[in-house]
Amino acid sequence: MEQQWHGKKVLVLGAAKSGIAAATYLHQAGADVTINTGNIPSEEEQQKIKALGVKSVYNDHPLNLLNEAEVIVKNPGIPYHIPLLQEALLREIPIYTEVELAYLATDAEFVAITGSNGKTTTTTLVHELLKGGERPVHLAGNIGFPAIEVAAEAKVGDVIVIELSSFQLMGVDAFHPRSAALLNLSEAHLDYHGDFDSYADAKARMFRNMTEQDRVVVKKADPEVMKRVPTGISPQTFGYNEGDACVKEGWITLHGERILQVKELALGGAHNVENVLAALLLVEPFDIPHHHIERVLRTFGGVSHRTENLGQVLGRSVYNDSKATNNVAAEAALNGFEEPIVWLCGGLERGADLSSLVPALKHVKAVIAYGETAERFKELGESQRIPSFSVETLAEAVPLAFAQSKAGDVILLSPACASWDQFKTFEERGEQFVKLVREVEEANR
Ligand code: ADP
Repeated sequence: MEQQWHGKKVLVLGAAKSGIAAATYLHQAGADVTINTGNIPSEEEQQKIKALGVKSVYNDHPLNLLNEAEVIVKNPGIPYHIPLLQEALLREIPIYTEVELAYLATDAEFVAITGSNGKTTTTTLVHELLKGGERPVHLAGNIGFPAIEVAAEAKVGDVIVIELSSFQLMGVDAFHPRSAALLNLSEAHLDYHGDFDSYADAKARMFRNMTEQDRVVVKKADPEVMKRVPTGISPQTFGYNEGDACVKEGWITLHGERILQVKELALGGAHNVENVLAALLLVEPFDIPHHHIERVLRTFGGVSHRTENLGQVLGRSVYNDSKATNNVAAEAALNGFEEPIVWLCGGLERGADLSSLVPALKHVKAVIAYGETAERFKELGESQRIPSFSVETLAEAVPLAFAQSKAGDVILLSPACASWDQFKTFEERGEQFVKLVREVEEANR
């Protein structure tokens, strides 16, 4: 596979982890590589590039770079509207992301997951499930190592599980997964894609080379998803209420066969049940023993900060959903519980309309809002006659959440806002939440 790069002039745009990984691979494969960035890379990145011995152009994207380029491999985050890429499109220079490179680099098979929400959870779960099979399995992409690094190591017969964003999928051409799921579609990243259709179509590029022999997994109840199944493919469908994988009489079922009771799942929330259903369909072609599937489903409590189950604390079930930075994600988490919920929310003010959250408040018994948006969330709760509180910080919100709840309730941090008013990242916010919860637990021992 590597021969195809020998002597090729490749322009790598972006010097983040995946750009350096791509340049390393291409350089080793004998390509003539130039790394180009619109800013000045960090000292560490510059050192790595120097050590690699490839050409570099920093702090600008001069058009004359295209005179030399036969192929462009770009960081997914770089928008197509920059003049360099507009010109490359005019000149019909192929523009790939590192995922395409990874696909071309290996004979291993790919299991790919995309969608607006639930990608990381489903990808991690699929990886855990596939570990019970006979074939070596690797995790690539946002939560693993860069795809090209994994692909360069993987052997024929191995399986690579990868989470894909719309940005990454814009830059694929030959990419052809063996099994792939489009989980759901809601508005996101419109600043990059311009409109919903181009965003959704970018996601659906994942299916473009798949055939009847492959496994295409889609959510039955999502018309935007169903619309994007390629003609000639009969997909496998999932959904809480309907599909080849669905819930029947409290059981997770796959083609009618009972797998496990929903209440026995370690993952919490109806949206996670859907992620489980999709994962089961994705791994079905790989013949994983039933006992392994059952064990994973009973123990896999989720990925940190994604409706992560923190266990029972003073009789309350506590969940860290710090990754829920928008209404849709928080709505999914809120809809996921039947028990009374004390909801911790708020954060960076972006002027979002909160009214779409109203139907999701039906099980909420108290709203504890903090951060820049605190007052607006308090008003939202009060508009539904729910006891609602506004405080400054998460440190004040957590003890109040315990005071407002009792044994049997759910305490859910699902902020529906970005964290940047008070934290560096959603991970830092989630970690602080976990710490505060453990402090309450300790204090009551
Ligand atoms: P992604 O990788 O797509 O951002 P994650 O698995 O990291 O998805 O989950 C992010 C948040 O999205 C979770 O915290 C949860 O609130 C919400 N979520 C997870 N799965 C789903 C789903 N299937 N449908 C709707 N929302 C979901």
